[in-house]
Amino acid sequence: MWLLLKQGAEPAGLLEELQAEGVSVQAHPIGQRWMLEVIENGYTPEAFLRWEEVERVIAEKPAFPLVATWQGTVNVGSWRRGEAPLWIAGPCSVERKADLLSLALSLRRAGVHALRGGAYKARTSPYAFQGLGEEALDWLAEAKAISGLPLCVEVVSEKHLALYQKKGIDILQVGARNMDNYWLLQEVASLRLPVLLKRNPQARLEEWLLAAEYLLLHGAPWVMLCERGIRTFDYSLRYTLDVGIFSVAAQHTALPVVADPSHAAGRWQHVAALTYAALAAGAEGILVEVHTEPFHARSDAAQQLTLEQFLALKEKADSLHANLHSGGVAQPLQSRLEQ
Ligand code: PEP
Ligand code: MN
Repeated sequence: MWLLLKQGAEPAGLLEELQAEGVSVQAHPIGQRWMLEVIENGYTPEAFLRWEEVERVIAEKPAFPLVATWQGTVNVGSWRRGEAPLWIAGPCSVERKADLLSLALSLRRAGVHALRGGAYKARTSPYAFQGLGEEALDWLAEAKAISGLPLCVEVVSEKHLALYQKKGIDILQVGARNMDNYWLLQEVASLRLPVLLKRNPQARLEEWLLAAEYLLLHGAPWVMLCERGIRTFDYSLRYTLDVGIFSVAAQHTALPVVADPSHAAGRWQHVAALTYAALAAGAEGILVEVHTEPFHARSDAAQQLTLEQFLALKEKADSLHANLHSGGVAQPLQSRLEQ
Protein backbone atom coordinates (compact mmCIF):
# COMPACT_ATOMS: atom_id res chain seq x y z
CA MET A 1 0.00 0.00 0.00
CA TRP A 2 1.21 3.54 -0.79
CA LEU A 3 0.47 6.85 0.91
CA LEU A 4 0.72 9.93 -1.29
CA LEU A 5 1.65 12.91 0.88
CA LYS A 6 0.24 16.38 0.19
CA GLN A 7 2.33 18.89 -1.73
CA GLY A 8 4.85 20.40 0.70
CA ALA A 9 4.29 17.80 3.46
CA GLU A 10 7.53 16.39 4.91
CA PRO A 11 7.63 12.69 5.78
CA ALA A 12 9.90 12.71 8.88
CA GLY A 13 7.27 13.31 11.60
CA LEU A 14 4.78 10.91 10.05
CA LEU A 15 7.41 8.19 9.65
CA GLU A 16 8.28 8.50 13.31
CA GLU A 17 4.64 8.33 14.43
CA LEU A 18 3.81 5.35 12.21
CA GLN A 19 6.91 3.45 13.25
CA ALA A 20 6.01 4.08 16.89
CA GLU A 21 2.60 2.49 16.11
CA GLY A 22 4.37 -0.60 14.76
CA VAL A 23 3.82 0.19 11.06
CA SER A 24 6.73 -0.76 8.82
CA VAL A 25 7.07 2.07 6.32
CA GLN A 26 9.60 3.61 3.90
CA ALA A 27 9.63 7.08 2.27
CA HIS A 28 10.29 7.59 -1.48
CA PRO A 29 10.60 11.01 -3.17
CA ILE A 30 8.32 11.37 -6.22
CA GLY A 31 9.19 14.63 -7.97
CA GLN A 32 8.45 17.45 -5.55
CA ARG A 33 6.54 15.23 -3.10
CA TRP A 34 6.76 12.08 -1.05
CA MET A 35 5.13 8.68 -1.14
CA LEU A 36 5.32 6.29 1.78
CA GLU A 37 5.44 2.60 1.08
CA VAL A 38 3.60 0.73 3.84
CA ILE A 39 5.14 -2.69 4.10
CA GLU A 40 3.37 -4.15 7.12
CA ASN A 41 0.57 -2.80 9.22
CA GLY A 42 -2.63 -3.62 11.00
CA TYR A 43 -4.58 -0.66 9.62
CA THR A 44 -7.32 -0.41 7.01
CA PRO A 45 -6.45 1.95 4.11
CA GLU A 46 -8.91 4.61 5.37
CA ALA A 47 -7.20 4.76 8.75
CA PHE A 48 -4.17 6.42 7.13
CA LEU A 49 -6.35 9.33 6.04
CA ARG A 50 -6.52 10.36 9.71
CA TRP A 51 -3.07 11.87 9.24
CA GLU A 52 -3.26 15.40 7.92
CA GLU A 53 -0.19 14.91 5.67
CA VAL A 54 -1.78 12.03 3.72
CA GLU A 55 -3.59 13.08 0.55
CA ARG A 56 -4.47 9.65 -0.82
CA VAL A 57 -4.03 5.93 -0.18
CA ILE A 58 -3.10 3.92 -3.29
CA ALA A 59 -3.16 0.12 -3.49
CA GLU A 60 -0.35 -0.28 -6.05
CA LYS A 61 2.32 2.24 -6.91
CA PRO A 62 1.44 3.25 -10.49
CA ALA A 63 4.12 3.29 -13.19
CA PHE A 64 3.40 7.01 -13.59
CA PRO A 65 2.61 8.23 -10.05
CA LEU A 66 2.67 11.96 -10.82
CA VAL A 67 0.38 11.58 -13.82
CA ALA A 68 -1.94 9.25 -11.90
CA THR A 69 -2.25 11.55 -8.88
CA TRP A 70 -2.04 14.95 -10.57
CA GLN A 71 -4.65 17.38 -9.29
CA GLY A 72 -4.28 20.99 -10.22
CA THR A 73 -5.60 23.89 -12.21
CA VAL A 74 -5.32 24.25 -15.96
CA ASN A 75 -5.22 27.86 -17.12
CA VAL A 76 -5.46 28.61 -20.82
CA GLY A 77 -6.64 32.17 -21.45
CA SER A 78 -10.32 32.55 -20.66
CA TRP A 79 -11.10 28.80 -20.69
CA ARG A 80 -13.05 27.41 -17.73
CA ARG A 81 -12.41 23.71 -17.48
CA GLY A 82 -15.55 21.60 -17.69
CA GLU A 83 -17.79 24.38 -19.00
CA ALA A 84 -17.04 24.39 -22.74
CA PRO A 85 -14.46 22.82 -25.03
CA LEU A 86 -10.99 24.34 -25.09
CA TRP A 87 -10.08 25.76 -28.50
CA ILE A 88 -6.50 26.14 -29.66
CA ALA A 89 -6.40 27.32 -33.27
CA GLY A 90 -4.05 28.84 -35.81
CA PRO A 91 -1.95 28.04 -38.84
CA CYS A 92 0.28 25.01 -39.23
CA SER A 93 3.24 27.34 -39.89
CA VAL A 94 3.54 31.05 -39.31
CA GLU A 95 4.18 32.49 -42.76
CA ARG A 96 3.11 36.14 -43.02
CA LYS A 97 2.88 38.70 -40.25
CA ALA A 98 -0.21 40.58 -41.44
CA ASP A 99 -2.13 37.29 -41.91
CA LEU A 100 -1.19 36.06 -38.45
CA LEU A 101 -2.23 39.29 -36.73
CA SER A 102 -5.60 39.48 -38.48
CA LEU A 103 -6.24 35.78 -37.88
CA ALA A 104 -5.40 36.15 -34.18
CA LEU A 105 -7.94 38.96 -33.81
CA SER A 106 -10.64 36.99 -35.64
CA LEU A 107 -9.97 33.87 -33.57
CA ARG A 108 -10.13 35.92 -30.38
CA ARG A 109 -13.50 37.34 -31.44
CA ALA A 110 -14.70 33.78 -32.15
CA GLY A 111 -13.96 32.75 -28.57
CA VAL A 112 -10.78 30.77 -29.19
CA HIS A 113 -8.66 30.38 -26.04
CA ALA A 114 -5.13 30.09 -27.43
CA LEU A 115 -3.29 30.73 -30.69
CA ARG A 116 -1.10 28.08 -32.27
CA GLY A 117 1.46 28.50 -35.05
CA GLY A 118 4.65 26.71 -36.04
CA ALA A 119 7.96 28.59 -35.96
CA TYR A 120 10.38 25.68 -36.31
CA LYS A 121 8.71 22.84 -38.19
CA ALA A 122 9.47 19.15 -37.85
CA ARG A 123 9.16 18.07 -41.51
CA THR A 124 9.47 14.58 -42.89
CA SER A 125 11.48 15.85 -45.85
CA PRO A 126 14.63 17.93 -45.28
CA TYR A 127 13.71 19.85 -48.44
CA ALA A 128 10.30 20.94 -47.16
CA PHE A 129 9.64 24.37 -45.60
CA GLN A 130 11.23 24.31 -42.14
CA GLY A 131 9.53 27.39 -40.63
CA LEU A 132 10.58 31.01 -40.27
CA GLY A 133 12.17 30.51 -36.84
CA GLU A 134 12.81 33.57 -34.67
CA GLU A 135 10.93 35.91 -37.00
CA ALA A 136 7.83 33.74 -36.58
CA LEU A 137 8.23 33.86 -32.79
CA ASP A 138 8.38 37.68 -32.97
CA TRP A 139 5.15 37.81 -34.95
CA LEU A 140 3.49 35.37 -32.56
CA ALA A 141 4.50 37.60 -29.64
CA GLU A 142 2.96 40.55 -31.46
CA ALA A 143 -0.22 38.55 -32.14
CA LYS A 144 -0.41 37.76 -28.43
CA ALA A 145 0.03 41.43 -27.52
CA ILE A 146 -2.80 42.62 -29.77
CA SER A 147 -5.24 39.73 -29.21
CA GLY A 148 -4.53 38.76 -25.61
CA LEU A 149 -4.44 35.11 -26.73
CA PRO A 150 -1.83 32.88 -25.04
CA LEU A 151 0.53 31.07 -27.42
CA CYS A 152 0.98 27.33 -27.94
CA VAL A 153 4.08 26.67 -30.06
CA GLU A 154 5.96 23.48 -30.88
CA VAL A 155 9.55 23.11 -29.65
CA VAL A 156 11.77 20.89 -31.77
CA SER A 157 15.15 21.47 -30.12
CA GLU A 158 16.44 22.45 -26.69
CA LYS A 159 18.62 25.00 -28.50
CA HIS A 160 15.52 27.16 -29.01
CA LEU A 161 14.17 27.06 -25.47
CA ALA A 162 15.77 30.29 -24.23
CA LEU A 163 14.24 32.05 -27.22
CA TYR A 164 10.79 30.63 -26.47
CA GLN A 165 11.10 31.91 -22.92
CA LYS A 166 12.22 35.35 -24.09
CA LYS A 167 9.35 35.68 -26.57
CA GLY A 168 6.75 34.74 -23.94
CA ILE A 169 5.45 31.44 -25.35
CA ASP A 170 2.83 30.22 -22.86
CA ILE A 171 2.39 26.52 -23.71
CA LEU A 172 5.26 24.50 -25.13
CA GLN A 173 4.10 21.91 -27.65
CA VAL A 174 6.01 18.66 -27.97
CA GLY A 175 5.23 17.18 -31.38
CA ALA A 176 4.34 13.60 -32.23
CA ARG A 177 7.87 12.96 -33.50
CA ASN A 178 9.38 14.01 -30.19
CA MET A 179 7.01 12.44 -27.66
CA ASP A 180 9.63 9.87 -26.73
CA ASN A 181 12.67 12.13 -27.04
CA TYR A 182 13.19 11.87 -23.27
CA TRP A 183 16.13 14.25 -22.98
CA LEU A 184 14.23 16.93 -24.88
CA LEU A 185 11.25 16.34 -22.56
CA GLN A 186 13.44 17.01 -19.52
CA GLU A 187 14.81 20.23 -21.02
CA VAL A 188 11.33 21.41 -22.01
CA ALA A 189 9.99 20.69 -18.52
CA SER A 190 12.80 22.65 -16.89
CA LEU A 191 11.19 25.88 -18.16
CA ARG A 192 8.34 25.12 -15.71
CA LEU A 193 5.72 26.04 -18.32
CA PRO A 194 2.66 23.95 -19.25
CA VAL A 195 3.25 21.48 -22.06
CA LEU A 196 0.95 20.18 -24.79
CA LEU A 197 2.19 16.65 -25.45
CA LYS A 198 1.16 15.08 -28.76
CA ARG A 199 0.86 11.31 -28.86
CA ASN A 200 3.41 9.59 -31.06
CA PRO A 201 1.34 7.69 -33.70
CA GLN A 202 3.07 4.48 -32.60
CA ALA A 203 2.72 5.01 -28.84
CA ARG A 204 0.59 2.94 -26.51
CA LEU A 205 -1.30 4.78 -23.77
CA GLU A 206 1.24 3.78 -21.13
CA GLU A 207 4.16 5.10 -23.19
CA TRP A 208 2.33 8.39 -23.72
CA LEU A 209 1.58 8.73 -20.00
CA LEU A 210 5.19 7.90 -19.12
CA ALA A 211 6.31 10.72 -21.42
CA ALA A 212 3.94 13.00 -19.47
CA GLU A 213 5.47 11.65 -16.25
CA TYR A 214 8.91 12.83 -17.46
CA LEU A 215 7.49 16.30 -17.93
CA LEU A 216 5.82 16.48 -14.50
CA LEU A 217 8.86 14.99 -12.79
CA HIS A 218 11.18 17.56 -14.33
CA GLY A 219 9.11 20.64 -13.54
CA ALA A 220 6.13 21.12 -15.88
CA PRO A 221 3.16 22.30 -13.77
CA TRP A 222 0.70 20.41 -15.99
CA VAL A 223 0.56 18.56 -19.26
CA MET A 224 -2.18 18.57 -21.85
CA LEU A 225 -2.30 15.25 -23.68
CA CYS A 226 -3.16 15.61 -27.37
CA GLU A 227 -4.38 12.68 -29.47
CA ARG A 228 -3.52 13.45 -33.12
CA GLY A 229 -4.14 10.12 -34.81
CA ILE A 230 -2.23 6.86 -34.73
CA ARG A 231 -0.78 4.62 -37.44
CA THR A 232 -3.03 1.72 -38.35
CA PHE A 233 -3.34 -0.54 -41.39
CA ASP A 234 -5.79 1.91 -42.94
CA TYR A 235 -4.52 4.95 -44.80
CA SER A 236 -7.76 6.33 -46.17
CA LEU A 237 -7.13 9.26 -43.83
CA ARG A 238 -3.68 10.57 -42.93
CA TYR A 239 -3.88 8.82 -39.53
CA THR A 240 -6.60 7.10 -37.49
CA LEU A 241 -8.00 9.24 -34.67
CA ASP A 242 -8.15 6.96 -31.64
CA VAL A 243 -11.47 8.10 -30.20
CA GLY A 244 -11.48 5.39 -27.53
CA ILE A 245 -8.41 6.87 -25.90
CA PHE A 246 -10.27 9.82 -24.35
CA SER A 247 -12.35 7.75 -21.95
CA VAL A 248 -9.53 5.26 -21.25
CA ALA A 249 -7.05 8.04 -20.47
CA ALA A 250 -9.60 9.57 -18.09
CA GLN A 251 -9.43 6.42 -15.98
CA HIS A 252 -5.71 6.95 -15.45
CA THR A 253 -5.24 10.68 -15.08
CA ALA A 254 -6.99 13.97 -14.36
CA LEU A 255 -4.71 15.77 -16.82
CA PRO A 256 -6.70 17.24 -19.71
CA VAL A 257 -6.86 15.25 -22.94
CA VAL A 258 -7.60 17.06 -26.19
CA ALA A 259 -7.87 16.09 -29.86
CA ASP A 260 -6.11 17.35 -32.97
CA PRO A 261 -8.50 16.44 -35.80
CA SER A 262 -6.40 18.29 -38.42
CA HIS A 263 -3.33 16.05 -38.43
CA ALA A 264 -5.48 12.93 -38.07
CA ALA A 265 -7.69 13.85 -41.03
CA GLY A 266 -5.03 15.20 -43.36
CA ARG A 267 -7.78 16.82 -45.45
CA TRP A 268 -10.06 19.64 -44.40
CA GLN A 269 -13.20 17.77 -45.51
CA HIS A 270 -12.93 15.35 -42.57
CA VAL A 271 -11.88 17.74 -39.81
CA ALA A 272 -15.44 18.50 -38.66
CA ALA A 273 -16.45 14.83 -38.36
CA LEU A 274 -13.39 14.03 -36.26
CA THR A 275 -13.97 17.09 -34.07
CA TYR A 276 -17.53 16.02 -33.25
CA ALA A 277 -16.46 12.43 -32.64
CA ALA A 278 -13.67 13.50 -30.28
CA LEU A 279 -15.91 15.78 -28.23
CA ALA A 280 -18.62 13.13 -28.02
CA ALA A 281 -16.01 10.62 -26.83
CA GLY A 282 -14.82 12.87 -24.01
CA ALA A 283 -12.05 15.10 -25.44
CA GLU A 284 -11.89 18.31 -23.45
CA GLY A 285 -10.69 20.46 -26.26
CA ILE A 286 -9.67 20.76 -29.88
CA LEU A 287 -6.43 21.89 -31.46
CA VAL A 288 -7.18 22.76 -35.05
CA GLU A 289 -5.28 24.28 -37.95
CA VAL A 290 -6.82 27.43 -39.43
CA HIS A 291 -5.21 29.48 -42.19
CA THR A 292 -6.18 32.77 -43.85
CA GLU A 293 -5.39 31.30 -47.27
CA PRO A 294 -4.99 27.51 -47.04
CA PHE A 295 -4.35 27.18 -50.80
CA HIS A 296 -1.09 29.06 -50.28
CA ALA A 297 -0.07 27.39 -47.01
CA ARG A 298 3.58 26.28 -47.04
CA SER A 299 2.80 23.20 -44.93
CA ASP A 300 -0.32 21.04 -44.46
CA ALA A 301 -2.27 22.92 -47.16
CA ALA A 302 -4.80 20.10 -47.60
CA GLN A 303 -6.00 20.00 -44.02
CA GLN A 304 -6.17 23.60 -42.86
CA LEU A 305 -9.59 25.22 -42.46
CA THR A 306 -10.45 28.68 -43.71
CA LEU A 307 -11.64 31.08 -41.03
CA GLU A 308 -15.23 30.73 -42.28
CA GLN A 309 -15.06 26.93 -42.12
CA PHE A 310 -13.63 27.15 -38.63
CA LEU A 311 -16.33 29.53 -37.39
CA ALA A 312 -19.07 27.20 -38.64
CA LEU A 313 -17.35 24.19 -37.08
CA LYS A 314 -16.85 25.86 -33.72
CA GLU A 315 -20.45 26.95 -33.46
CA LYS A 316 -21.74 23.43 -34.12
CA ALA A 317 -19.13 21.77 -31.92
CA ASP A 318 -19.82 24.10 -28.97
CA SER A 319 -23.52 23.37 -29.18
CA LEU A 320 -22.90 19.62 -29.52
CA HIS A 321 -20.72 19.77 -26.40
CA ALA A 322 -23.36 21.74 -24.49
CA ASN A 323 -26.03 19.18 -25.49
CA LEU A 324 -23.88 16.23 -24.51
CA HIS A 325 -23.19 17.68 -21.11
CA SER A 326 -26.72 18.81 -20.36
CA GLY A 327 -27.92 15.31 -21.30
CA GLY A 328 -25.14 13.72 -19.27
CA VAL A 329 -23.88 11.74 -22.27
CA ALA A 330 -20.23 12.72 -22.19
CA GLN A 331 -19.56 10.74 -19.05
CA PRO A 332 -15.78 10.34 -19.14
CA LEU A 333 -15.09 14.01 -18.56
CA GLN A 334 -17.88 14.30 -16.02
CA SER A 335 -16.58 11.47 -13.91
CA ARG A 336 -13.04 12.77 -14.18
CA LEU A 337 -14.07 16.15 -12.80
CA GLU A 338 -16.01 14.54 -9.99
CA GLN A 339 -13.07 12.39 -8.87
C1 PEP B 1 1.70 20.42 -35.70
O1 PEP B 1 0.91 20.53 -34.74
O2 PEP B 1 1.90 21.33 -36.52
C2 PEP B 1 2.38 19.13 -35.91
C3 PEP B 1 3.51 19.06 -36.59
O3 PEP B 1 1.74 18.08 -35.39
P1 PEP B 1 2.24 16.57 -35.10
O4 PEP B 1 3.43 16.71 -34.19
O5 PEP B 1 1.05 15.97 -34.43
O6 PEP B 1 2.57 15.95 -36.41
MN1 MN C 1 0.56 20.91 -39.38
